[in-house]
Formats: sequence, C-alpha cells, structure tokens
Amino acid sequence: PGDPLNLVAVECRRAPDALRLGAVPGLPDEAYEHDGQLTKRHVRAATLGALAPGPGELLWDIGGGSGSVAIEWMRTHPSCRAVTVERDPRRAERIARNAGRLGVPGLRVVTGAAPAALAGLPSPDAVFIGGGLTAPGLLDACWQALPDGGRLVANTVTLESEAVLAGGHRRYGGDLVRLAVAHAAPVGGFTGWRQAMPVTQWAVQK
Ligand code: SAH
Repeated sequence: PGDPLNLVAVECRRAPDALRLGAVPGLPDEAYEHDGQLTKRHVRAATLGALAPGPGELLWDIGGGSGSVAIEWMRTHPSCRAVTVERDPRRAERIARNAGRLGVPGLRVVTGAAPAALAGLPSPDAVFIGGGLTAPGLLDACWQALPDGGRLVANTVTLESEAVLAGGHRRYGGDLVRLAVAHAAPVGGFTGWRQAMPVTQWAVQK
C-alpha cells in the first residue's frame, strides 16, 4: 500500500476468465474471428511445428482463411514475415483484422486466387497450403518457388486434395500423416467423443 509499483502489479492482473494468448502456436480457436474456415487449434500447433519458423524467414500461406497459420508464424519472432493469399475478399479483410488484433499488423494479405496470385511474390523459406490444392499447377508452383532446404506443409480434409498430396509424397517424399482429433462432449447425461474431420497433412523439406 502506498508503493506505486505495488499498485501497477495489482492493475495488470488479468481477469481469471480472460483468453490466454501464449507465446507458442496453438492459440485457442476463440482468439480468431472466423466463419468456420479455420485450421483448428491442435492441427494448427502440429502445422506450425512442421513449418518450423526461424527468425527472419518468410512464409507463403496459401488459402489464408482466417489467417491463423500466417499469424502464428509471425508471432514466433518479431523478424518473421508472411504473405497470405486468399481469394475471398471478405476473408481477406477478416485476416487483416485478426492480424491486427493478435499483434502482427505487418502480415501482407494478397486478395486473389493461387497459383496466379503468387506471381511476383518474394521467394519463401516455407510454404503452407491450406486451400486451393486442386487448382491446376498450384503444388508445382509452390515447389518450384521453394529454395533447397525450404519446407512445404499442406493440409486437407477432402479426398480430391488428398490425392494431390499422395502424388506429392510419391514424388518428393516427406511425411504424410493423418490427424484425427476428437473432443469430449455431452451425450445425454454422460460424455462421449465428438470426432472432427480427419486432416491429412503432408510435410516435406526440399
Ligand atoms: N488455414 C486457414 C484455413 C484455410 S480454409 C486458417 O487457419 O484460417 C481454405 C481457404 O482457402 C478458404 O478461405 C478458401 O477461400 C481459400 N482458397 C481456396 N482455393 C484458393 C485458391 N486457389 N487461392 C487462394 N485461396 C483459396
């Protein structure tokens, strides 16, 4: 009491139910404004792990959705850079809002469809593909844009895109994994597992 530093400490204490935004990827889904097109928390954490951001590196986030992958890439280090490509203009605006609210206003948002919208972008250290995998030439364009040692990670929930990933895995190797997350939810008076759609993830280093 009477000590000004003590007063500051009291004022900074967060409300117990405040949304905790940690330093490590895998922020709660509620941290994002979204319309359902969002890589969910547990899959997102695994995705950022495979992307392995390093200081100063540039990510291409293709099919940005709500922007979560690019945003969490940029949050790992102040020097990390990202450009997200999203064909839906309303989602592109939403990505910019999420980036501002989550502390990375420098995220570059390109409104347009890949692969055409990739032309002229600075070359990436890593590429994430979260949408557009069935667009002709997209995977090849991403692979060609990557330098040796660059990482490519692609997620999908559809059979059509999974076939593209199987082809990439055959040609270039890497890890093809299936992430099947379930959440406990009420079943009558009891609790059961509600299964989310399984996500197929291909991760490869060039
Ligand atoms: N990783 C995102 C979710 C991606 S949802 C997140 O965490 O928020 C897939 C997105 O890809 C959708 O928003 C869709 O509009 C976009 N998309 C699909 N095909 C595309 C293409 N060819 N170019 C750019 N965006 C595309």
